[in-house]
Amino acid sequence: MRALCWEGADELAVRQVPDPELRNAHDMIVRVRRSATCGADLPLLSGRIPFLAAGDVLGHEFLGEVVEVGPDVRRHRIADRVVVCAAVACGACWYCGQGLFACCDNGSTGAAVTESAWGQPTGGCYGHPGPLGGFAGSHAEYVRVPYADVGAFRVPDPVSDDRAVFASDAAPTGWMGAELGDVGPGDVVAVWGAGAIGQLTARAAQLHGADRVIVIDRYDDRLRMVDRHVGAEPLNYRYVDVPAELRERSGGRGPDVCVEAVGMEPEPPGLLAGRLGGGAERPLALREAVHACRKGGTVVVLGTWTGFVDTFPLGAVMNKGLTVRSSRQHGQRWIPMLLERMARDELRTEHLATHRLPLERGADGYALFRERTDGCVRAVFSP
Ligand SMILES: [Zn+2]
Ligand SMILES: [Zn+2]
Repeated sequence: MRALCWEGADELAVRQVPDPELRNAHDMIVRVRRSATCGADLPLLSGRIPFLAAGDVLGHEFLGEVVEVGPDVRRHRIADRVVVCAAVACGACWYCGQGLFACCDNGSTGAAVTESAWGQPTGGCYGHPGPLGGFAGSHAEYVRVPYADVGAFRVPDPVSDDRAVFASDAAPTGWMGAELGDVGPGDVVAVWGAGAIGQLTARAAQLHGADRVIVIDRYDDRLRMVDRHVGAEPLNYRYVDVPAELRERSGGRGPDVCVEAVGMEPEPPGLLAGRLGGGAERPLALREAVHACRKGGTVVVLGTWTGFVDTFPLGAVMNKGLTVRSSRQHGQRWIPMLLERMARDELRTEHLATHRLPLERGADGYALFRERTDGCVRAVFSP
């Protein structure tokens, strides 16, 4: 089959790789119809995370058609249209039993590194190297889906491919942002980052009953989307003093819930460097979120982080009585509900697929996505 492979630092190419095969009774094979880029891919591209090997297939947000099922797969049949949760989880361990699917004990085959870096191993993710399981990614014609009954979900007929593909990662991550923030009626919610996850966090906050939802970014095209497609309030940090403006819009107190949807910037040192203390990640948006949040409020960390963070304002967290919560997404918990909301037209996501490209143009898609040229929010590939 053809797949978009990492070929070395900042080099991607479509090439021929072996077709995936069923390895376990609960596996299935999916023919990919849509596969989206994600900010979590960017730290991989530069090669500073040392586990990627030339020929590894990227991509973890996808939707497709079932073409082969293992003998123990109960919930899926050949030709079903399914969206697959980006996070790989077993559905049977203690953590999966608590609904903490991203913390699954059996979702990664490369647990030794994460155990050493973070104290405990975490679940896996498609298209990420060894420590997160090393499962081949979705920028390909076919993908092997382990634990198929746990991680794949049938897409209701009225929901288009371009909408449903975001139920794989961005929509459940955004939903989790509102859940971790315990967002409810009357709340003022501020979200840093107007990418797909920031926009879908804003929408989730509205669906949780928030009174005002404000999204902060520097790109006017993304902020126009926030206004037009989400109906949230855009705020461009190039023009205003963000904490002062947020106080103004929240009765002088500051937002009740502040969500960071930006992640490491600008150049991640990578997991290993973090583990060795050799580099630190700069939490600029996170610092501002802590600073702006009202006393007793909640700060939610949704961006991608791997190692150590420098100059985190713990003093403000302690003295203002803030709650800080974070996680990788537990999508298995929310994807069926999100698909229903998509079918009812309560949750629209297709505008995020600003660039729809054939898989052959995968390298171009990542260039647009990384540089945010031509208003790119997400590139979505069709093999
Ligand atoms: Zn993602
Ligand atoms: Zn598990």
